[in-house]
Amino acid sequence: MPFGIQPIHLILIIVVALIIFGPTRLPEIGRGLGKSINEFRKGAKEMTEGFKDEVVAPVDAPQQAHPAAAASMPVAPAAAAAAAPSMVTCPSCSTPNPSGAAFCNKCGAKLAY
Ligand SMILES: [Zn+2]
Repeated sequence: MPFGIQPIHLILIIVVALIIFGPTRLPEIGRGLGKSINEFRKGAKEMTEGFKDEVVAPVDAPQQAHPAAAASMPVAPAAAAAAAPSMVTCPSCSTPNPSGAAFCNKCGAKLAY
């Protein structure tokens, strides 16, 4: 027995568990314990496999990351440029005006740049 536990101790633990949890709940607890151990083993296995995948195939990672980064980089400033500076909000009536306009289309106020 590991950790110096002898069969008599195991029996005592089971008896104490029976007293604490009751004989009807014990199989339930055992099942839950087995389930959680199984899930822990599964998770540990998946973690190890995922780690192996990243270590074994490091060449694929930059190739996969590059097109995504290249695609996202020009899109974001272009979208920001299209949304913000092309329209100028009137300081008088808050109407959006084209960026080239010197005066507000709605109220005629001078647009500040
Ligand atoms: Zn205006």
